[in-house]
Amino acid sequence: MNIWELLCFFTALYAAVVFAQEEDWKYENNGTAAWGDAYPACRGTQQSPIPLTRDGAKLWWPSMQRQAGFRIDLQNYGTAQQGVFVNDGKSVALIFNYTDISSAPHLIILNNGSVASYSLTRLHFHWPSEHWIYNQRYPLEMHMTHRDDNNNTLVLSILFTTECSVPSDGMQTVAAAVRRVKHSGDSVPIEDFAPVRLLPPFLQRDCGYYMFPGSLTTPPCSQDVLWLVHEVPLCIGRSQLEAFQNVERADGGLLASNARPLQAVNGRQVLYLPCQH
Ligand SMILES: [Zn+2]
Repeated sequence: MNIWELLCFFTALYAAVVFAQEEDWKYENNGTAAWGDAYPACRGTQQSPIPLTRDGAKLWWPSMQRQAGFRIDLQNYGTAQQGVFVNDGKSVALIFNYTDISSAPHLIILNNGSVASYSLTRLHFHWPSEHWIYNQRYPLEMHMTHRDDNNNTLVLSILFTTECSVPSDGMQTVAAAVRRVKHSGDSVPIEDFAPVRLLPPFLQRDCGYYMFPGSLTTPPCSQDVLWLVHEVPLCIGRSQLEAFQNVERADGGLLASNARPLQAVNGRQVLYLPCQH
């Protein structure tokens, strides 16, 4: 091997390493089955999404205990925020841009004196839904990604249905933004959007959740995610749903579906928080 062959060899090796690091992943053509090749965590034992039923879940806590200090508190979700709505080729996402981090929406889990607080960083969508409830799949699922001070992730998941009459207040703004980011790489600014517009009605906001440990539903599939999936779907209009279904991938093809198939529960404990209102 002369110096040029050696150089070519190392150039090729370098390119292979870089390519491997930046190896893309995809949904189409059964692409999800191959994620574990480049991202081993995707073959882990606590992966998301999973099927959910109340019958298979443990009650989060008995009603008496609940009154003694267990609850979910959503703070600052009613504050109008700025952000940017993007098509990253795998989904569409609203990335919040807080001028004052103390005004960021945060989800607090109070548990008999202990307090865990997670700040909302962004939200994105999957169509159709990734989680199923009672064997039912929904046409759309929203993931609100939160982080705490130790970089632990909590995802609050809201499902959407077209079996309804009045679309949720926030979906009009979101669907309009989705139509403007049809192509991968597109982005539009979002002004004065309060995340509460994409949450269940007030009386259901602190209950009706499934809670369980899981993973990111996209590579690298990290298994450090606390999931909260709300059981009550919000309303989306059929033409609004079509806006999501017309989003394009990076290669210009239609992103017809960006939902990972159901993963094995593997004995995980799923908790359910009933409403008592
Ligand atoms: Zn997601």
